[in-house]
Amino acid sequence: MSALYKQHRLFVIIFTILFISIATTEGKTKKLFFKEHQAAVVLDPGHGGNDTGAQGPGGTLEKAVTLTLARMIADELGNKYRVVLTRTDDYSLDLHDRAAVSNNIKADLFVSLHTGGSFLHEASGMSLFYFKEILKPALIPEAPPKKPFENDKTNTNWDNIQNKYTTESKVLAKLVQDRLLQQLKSKKSKIQGAPLIVLKGAGMPAILIEIGYLTNPVEEKKLNDTKVLSDFAIGISNGINDFFQKK
Ligand SMILES: [Zn+2]
Repeated sequence: MSALYKQHRLFVIIFTILFISIATTEGKTKKLFFKEHQAAVVLDPGHGGNDTGAQGPGGTLEKAVTLTLARMIADELGNKYRVVLTRTDDYSLDLHDRAAVSNNIKADLFVSLHTGGSFLHEASGMSLFYFKEILKPALIPEAPPKKPFENDKTNTNWDNIQNKYTTESKVLAKLVQDRLLQQLKSKKSKIQGAPLIVLKGAGMPAILIEIGYLTNPVEEKKLNDTKVLSDFAIGISNGINDFFQKK
């Protein structure tokens, strides 16, 4: 190999490295720009893995309904926002870790998705919750926390941070409720405060939505209907859009 050829090859290698590093830097800059200007929405499909959530008389599992719904909402919101799901498949996730996902990416909004489960099979309708520290036990069965904020990299004390966002969370609940009722042509819904662990440590406006009672055979049938779920997804997305427009 001649000395000239060696030199030429060295130049080629140097230029290639230089080109790759410039391209990478540009990519990063663009990504940062994208992040700074887009609001981040975290969707939290309730339950997952061994934690199936409520179960309908026909065998429908809450964990499956919530994941399908979260994916539909993400599609509906499109690329207007940076949408992140706390879980993207069928695996379990600690309640604290769900809020931690949202805190770690400094999300602007956190929406936890559930279906109601009740021993009273006639229970029906949707419920929207914001966090409220009250003495009566949560109306939604939640698994006890296993570990406090293990995956939280921000080193912030998130305990009770949601209390700072009560007003905004109530506004979000109302806007989403209005749009859901409009989309589903329904009148049956309520907004209430509850001491829900999954909302407690969220450092942004946060709500939990129960889209009907899976244990009610009539509602179970609806929650298996893609058209009905799509209406829920549209209603929730419209409510989220309204929230950001009013901000
Ligand atoms: Zn649930």
